[in-house]
Amino acid sequence: MNIETSELLFREAEEHIVGGVNSPSRAYKGVGGGTPIYMERGEGSRFYDVDGNEYIDYLGAYGPIITGHAHPHITKAITKAAETGVLYGTPTALENTFAKKLKAAIPSLDKVRFVNSGTEAVMTTIRVARAYTGRNKMIKFAGCYHGHSDPVLVAAGSGPSTLGTPDSAGVPASIAADVITVPFNDVEAFREAMDKYGDEVAGVLVEPIVGNFGIVEPKEGFLQQVNDLTHEKGALVIYDEVITAFRFTYGSAQQLLGVEPDMTAMGKIIGGGLPIGAYGGRADIMEQVAPLGPAYQAGTMSGNPASMAAGIACLEVLEQPGTYEHLDHLGALLEEGIHQSADSHGLQIRVNRLGGALTVYFTDKSIENYEDAENTDGEKFATFFKKMLEKGINLAPSKYEAWFLTTAHTEEDIDQTLKAVDQTFAEMARN
Ligand code: PMP
Repeated sequence: MNIETSELLFREAEEHIVGGVNSPSRAYKGVGGGTPIYMERGEGSRFYDVDGNEYIDYLGAYGPIITGHAHPHITKAITKAAETGVLYGTPTALENTFAKKLKAAIPSLDKVRFVNSGTEAVMTTIRVARAYTGRNKMIKFAGCYHGHSDPVLVAAGSGPSTLGTPDSAGVPASIAADVITVPFNDVEAFREAMDKYGDEVAGVLVEPIVGNFGIVEPKEGFLQQVNDLTHEKGALVIYDEVITAFRFTYGSAQQLLGVEPDMTAMGKIIGGGLPIGAYGGRADIMEQVAPLGPAYQAGTMSGNPASMAAGIACLEVLEQPGTYEHLDHLGALLEEGIHQSADSHGLQIRVNRLGGALTVYFTDKSIENYEDAENTDGEKFATFFKKMLEKGINLAPSKYEAWFLTTAHTEEDIDQTLKAVDQTFAEMARN
């Protein structure tokens, strides 16, 4: 495969942009280095790079792209927004429309606030939880990624784990000292942490279905117990649904799982590909936020008409009947085919899948928490990633990430992908 132009562009980028990329996961550090491919055009499930190569995309821009690239309905909404001015600094009716649409889809949201990224959304829920409870400590689960604000760059999965910096430099020890980390899916460890620190805990941050050390579902009853133990101590439960909102159903993971948090952070899908974040929850908690309350949060770009229009359009596509059945159907085909190929070539793998999102781990053990994911074979994953890329399949360059299907993927895409998987596994089994 010729990637000459990508190589040139990356060399140029390295001179001007730190590490050559504007988000570290985009560098291929997690797969042993190499030149990231420069994409030029996306259409539906396909990507076309600057050297004219074509790919089936499963990166989905790390999650937001669930309706495929350049979906006509979303493109139209963005174009219209561009024609009427992309940023006003005044309220717009679109913000009401979108807030009502989110609330209708996710019942635990009495009030919402739009921001510009998942990072901002989570960061603010932490501040609001602290303002509401008058306490400082937070609990998070090891390997869960909640963006790059100071308090959550402790035992952070996803990009930080891929790059070997789960505990970032530059985060003051005093801030890290207020964050307690517990293994996911381990009720006893959580109970212990709550027994010890519960009275000082403002909030517990949870990815209700983990997306940041691969797709990992909570064990039966785990989230309910986390809720009960947290509330017993007067702390708040915050769901980080930046990946999960509108991923598995029209609505949130909390509805799918039958558990309700006090606050929810969102991002990614709800912007239809444009920058967005949102947080919301119980009215009495959200009323802590300025201008009603003492917790400050603001944003020049927040609620901008382009992101609002794209987000509304994206949800309009997703609420069409059959959306999530389609994603689940294709996901099941992928999962089954990947298993078949692995069996026939004698490779040990595990696939964690829910609906149209899945992770392939090179291991013979089940993955229930971060440590399990960490212990999977990263070198085998790197080989798999590179061989798949050469065959025109674009995956996330890290063993901790997921494959994301879109409504634009077809059975034909899956067939082509499974052929590439089978060939790749055959090559890996020979070496
Ligand atoms: N929370 C979760 C669960 C995420 O997966 C991410 C991004 N991968 C974030 C927060 C941060 O979102 P953003 O990159 O939009 O700041």
